[in-house]
Amino acid sequence: MNVGFIGLGIMGAPMAGHLIDAGHTLFVYDVVKVPEALTAKGATTCASSAEVAKQADIIITMVPDTPHVEEALFGKGGVAEGLSAGKIVVDMSSISPVATKGFAQKINALGCDYLDAPVSGGEVGAKAASLTIMVGGPDGAFDTVKPLFEKMGKNITLVGGNGDGQTTKVANQIIVALTIEAVGEALLFASKAGANPAKVREALMGGFASSKILEIHGDRMVKRTFDPGFRIELHQKDLNLALQSAKALGVSLPNTATCQELFNACAAHGGSKWDHSAMVKALELMANHTVAPDA
Ligand code: NAD
Repeated sequence: MNVGFIGLGIMGAPMAGHLIDAGHTLFVYDVVKVPEALTAKGATTCASSAEVAKQADIIITMVPDTPHVEEALFGKGGVAEGLSAGKIVVDMSSISPVATKGFAQKINALGCDYLDAPVSGGEVGAKAASLTIMVGGPDGAFDTVKPLFEKMGKNITLVGGNGDGQTTKVANQIIVALTIEAVGEALLFASKAGANPAKVREALMGGFASSKILEIHGDRMVKRTFDPGFRIELHQKDLNLALQSAKALGVSLPNTATCQELFNACAAHGGSKWDHSAMVKALELMANHTVAPDA
């Protein structure tokens, strides 16, 4: 297929690489620069998102946040300027479910389908082509794009209509944040009580409290490796989406709000770019105790 890929950062570059490796023809664009590894594999660099949309039948975006998607799709030189009827726009960034519904309507008005298809699994999953992909949009477009999703991920689910993929991703980020907080409290408690937190983590791994977060983020807390990974500023963006949507829907998410405050405390200590497992540092400040000594 002729595939467009816009946004070639930590996630987009390896994802686009898998599509080239699978034999697809790639047209790529990034506001900063296209990694040489992709052009060396045969990707064609375009001068704008509009040019990507002219050349490709399926156009994927993987940019940081809602305003970046809006700019890439509808800004000057954006995808909308290059689209013709029958093409499919696929946004794989994690952005607002509400804005997504509006973007989908505007793309539909141009005779094209829209899929929101955010991912979970991080840089490791992007490189290993093992991402979880949660999709919102029409069945037909999903069936057309599924072979591409299968080259980038493993657990691929059409959840419902436009916006439902992004809603699922917000739900994912709520679970991840609250679990990081739970693992942080547990290891802090165990350490203050005099137990070896590394051993406590190991002991809990087989039981009911076991999770990917205990495994990976718990290990980071013990070993004090807070280089990202997934940056706190990106998780703040996701919890902001959760809290704004909750307000609009009239539901209370008390522990999501607490986790956001803990991320805010990290940011106040210069931690916007720390890995999100560093949420434990905010708990440590309150406890006047660290899970393990800093390296
Ligand atoms: P990143 O900052 O590394 O990459 C984003 C890229 O988009 C950059 O190269 C930037 O130059 C480009 N860009 C920004 N605006 C653009 C525009 N208007 N047109 C073209 N290119 C533009 O971010 P990332 O870590 O790759 O994350 C991308 C998305 O994936 C985010 O929504 C993030 O929340 C989500 N995500 C990230 C991870 C992770 O672990 N990093 C995991 C799951 C989901």
